[in-house]
Amino acid sequence: MTNLASITIPAYKMDQLSTAIDKINRKANKINNGGISIVSCDTFYKTITDDGRNIKVQFANLVIAGTIPNVAGWKIAAIIDHSNELDLVHAYSEIPESYRDRGSFCDHCNTMRKRNKTIILVNDNNEYKQVGSTCLNDFTNQSTNGVLGYLESINDLIDHYGDDNTDINPVYYTYPIEFVIAAAINIIHNYGFTKSSDENYSTGIISTKSRMIDYFTSNNSILQDQYNNLINVPDIDNVVANVISWINNNTSKTEFIINLQSMMQFTGLKPNHFGYIAGAVVSYNKSVSDTIKNKITYNNEYVGNIKDRMIFTVKLLNIHSIDGYYGTTFIHTFIDDKNHNIIWFASKDCGYNVGDQFNMKATIKDHKEYKGIKQTVINRPTF
Ligand SMILES: [Zn+2]
Repeated sequence: MTNLASITIPAYKMDQLSTAIDKINRKANKINNGGISIVSCDTFYKTITDDGRNIKVQFANLVIAGTIPNVAGWKIAAIIDHSNELDLVHAYSEIPESYRDRGSFCDHCNTMRKRNKTIILVNDNNEYKQVGSTCLNDFTNQSTNGVLGYLESINDLIDHYGDDNTDINPVYYTYPIEFVIAAAINIIHNYGFTKSSDENYSTGIISTKSRMIDYFTSNNSILQDQYNNLINVPDIDNVVANVISWINNNTSKTEFIINLQSMMQFTGLKPNHFGYIAGAVVSYNKSVSDTIKNKITYNNEYVGNIKDRMIFTVKLLNIHSIDGYYGTTFIHTFIDDKNHNIIWFASKDCGYNVGDQFNMKATIKDHKEYKGIKQTVINRPTF
C-alpha cells in the first residue's frame, strides 16, 4: 500500500466519501487490484462563523492509501495531465524532477506533440519512461484502459475532496454528541425541562429543544450572553459520559431508546435530534433517582421544628420544574442521612446533579404530608 493523499473533510462527508471509495474499488476489482482505503482518520472540531453564527463543525484528517497497479513489469509512477495551462502531476511514487518538465514527450514513439495525458512508468531497475496515454497499450503490449480508468478515478476523488474544507452545506451542520448532551444538561439546570409540545411563545414558555437550537445557532447577542452565563454543572464531562452509557446500555426496546442508540453512532447531531437528547437527560436523571429510591425506606418522620435553621446532609433525588405564570419553579427532593424526605420549592436550580451528596444549611419552613410521606419543607438553603 502506498499513501496517496492526506485530506481534510467535514465529517458529514465521510459517508459520501466511503461510497465513492467503494465505487473505485469495484474498478480495482476488475483489474485484480486491492483498491484504496482510508488508513488513518483523526477527527477534530473547528468553529466556523457563518452568517454571524458560530458553529462547531467536526472535521476529519484522513490518509488514503492504495496499491498502484503494475503493467507488463512497469509500475505507474505518475499521470501527468497536460490539458491545462500548467501540467498537473498526480504522482503515486517519487518521480525524478526532470520528468516534471518534459512536456508531453513520449519515449515510446519518441515524439513531442500535444497530448492530454502522459504516463510516467518505472521498472525494478529504477528506469523511467514517459509514455503518451494513447501509446500505452502499444508500449506494454496489453490493454491498459482498466488500469488508467482506475487511476483517473482516484485522481478525481483526491481533486474533489483535496480542497473541500470550506465547502460546508448548512443542511449538514452537525454538532458533536458530547457538546449537545452537555448543553441539554446545563439548559435543563438553568431553565428546567420543557417538552416541545408545551412550548408557548405568547406566554414565554420555550421548550428545552428550542433553547438548545438557540444555544448552538443564535446570533442574538442577548441570548448569547444568557447562554454564556449558564450555571455550569460540576463535573459535567462525567455526567455526559454517564448519560451516553445509560443510553447505550439501555435494554428497553422503546422507539425512543432505539433511536437514541442509533444517534450515539452518528458522527454528529442535527438540531432535529435535540429534543431526543433533552428527553434522554431527563430520563437518565429519573433512572438515577429511581435507583436510589428503590434502595431506601423513608424514615417517615419530620425533621426539627418549623423556623429552625440547621445543617442537613442530603442526597439530591430529583429536580422537577414547573413553568407557571411567575416563572419556573424547581421542586427539589432530597433525602437526608437519616432517610427523611426533604423538599425545597425554588426559583432556581441548586446546581448539583441528581445523586450528588452534600451539606446545606437551611431553614425549616413547613411540615406536611404528601401521599403518606412526611415531608420537611425547607427554604433559603446555602450550600
Ligand atoms: Zn507515443
